Amino acid sequence: NLTNRLSVVIKTLRGEARLTEANIQDALREVRMALLEADVALPVVKEFIARVKEKAVGKEVMSSLSPGQALVGVVHQELIAIMGGEKADINLATVPPAVILMAGLQGAGKTTSSGKLAKWLMEQKKKKVLLVSCDTYRPAAIQQLELLANQTGTDFFPVHAGQQPKEIAAAALDFARRHFHDVMIVDTAGRLAIDEAMMEEIRELETLLKPIETLFVVDAMQGQDAVNTAKAFAEALPLTGVILTKLDGDARGGAALSVLQVTGKPIKFAGVAEKMTGLEAFHPDRMASRILGMGDVLGLIEEAQRGVDQQEAEKLAKKIKSGKSFDLNDFKMQFQQMKNMGGMSAMMDKLPAQLTQAAQKVKMDDKVMGRTEGIINAMTPQERLKPEILKASRKRRIATGAGVPVQEVNRLLAQFEQTQKMMKMMNKGGMAKMLRGMKG
Ligand code: GDP
Ligand code: MG
Repeated sequence: NLTNRLSVVIKTLRGEARLTEANIQDALREVRMALLEADVALPVVKEFIARVKEKAVGKEVMSSLSPGQALVGVVHQELIAIMGGEKADINLATVPPAVILMAGLQGAGKTTSSGKLAKWLMEQKKKKVLLVSCDTYRPAAIQQLELLANQTGTDFFPVHAGQQPKEIAAAALDFARRHFHDVMIVDTAGRLAIDEAMMEEIRELETLLKPIETLFVVDAMQGQDAVNTAKAFAEALPLTGVILTKLDGDARGGAALSVLQVTGKPIKFAGVAEKMTGLEAFHPDRMASRILGMGDVLGLIEEAQRGVDQQEAEKLAKKIKSGKSFDLNDFKMQFQQMKNMGGMSAMMDKLPAQLTQAAQKVKMDDKVMGRTEGIINAMTPQERLKPEILKASRKRRIATGAGVPVQEVNRLLAQFEQTQKMMKMMNKGGMAKMLRGMKG
């Protein structure tokens, strides 16, 4: 609960806390659940958790985070690292034509992705691309690719009736050389399930074409089943990368992690729509967040890091501890910090109970906060340091400057006095702890 969390946060403030098997146990359980819910295969989950544990235990906890949050940070980073860190680019560094071979089950999205990739290469890399279909298994497969070629304005290699995949591949390679194509994308036949005839066929194509990229195309909706498919293809072919399709569906993204763990190859592209523009470079960081489904938790970490500025809080704490009075500059800084934290209402549930009550007494809400800042801005530096010099004429000047009635200035000064008292009270209970406790 919140109190526990705060006490843990406070412990970390003294710089003593490190991640231990014990203090990451709960968070690890959450992570395990998140991964399973994201449809990551169980063996992959187990391996990943073990890896995270090894990385995390003994790690120092940033002072603004609780161990649970720090662990999620480790998990997030580890997910990104596993998924390739920086995005992996397509490799075309060879004597043209650079051959890209598409492999995967039927329905994975090979043909669609071939068309998309052709468009992407023409637009992003200014390449001359040839689309080739070696899918003689399904009757309409070749026409499907031809249609996409027309749609995207890509050159298409014409196939004669009765030509076998290997014949098509050899003829297309010759054609591409003679027509100076930079890239040749070869679509292949899939099967509904792993099948030796299919594997043999694509192995032969691979030997013949010597592709610079052999991309394993996999449907993200396959979830856990992606593991077995990926394993079979990785064993049969020297894969160089993965295209993860149908990420626009409700796939939780677990397939990404499973496929990566099994193949050890980077995901180079993601299919995000049926249409030909629906291909994107793969972003490991976005996928990590999607898999964790922990936007909230990640947001919390960011908030903690950005929220109350550590140094400012410390300065203020020190000042109050040292017996120096809490002045209107500090008051204003507090407001700014509250704004950074998402306003008073967002702060309320993060504050320890005593402070919440005190704050309610002061009756601060988000609107008042904005006006308060304006009023303090209208004061001279000296007035901010010594509010006691604020007599009637100065108050009138400030009110005019801030565009508020004089009563507002009086109300602010009353609030300030209340807060000053509150700060003294808090100081007895450990001001520094309170201020930084807010960040949990
Ligand atoms: P293949 O058998 O591997 O060649 O698969 P296809 O390219 O024919 O794709 C199978 C189905 O999935 C088709 O209806 C495609 O339109 C659809 N598809 C492929 N990629 C995507 C994608 O990224 N998003 C969506 N929504 N549909 C896709
Ligand atoms: Mg196809």
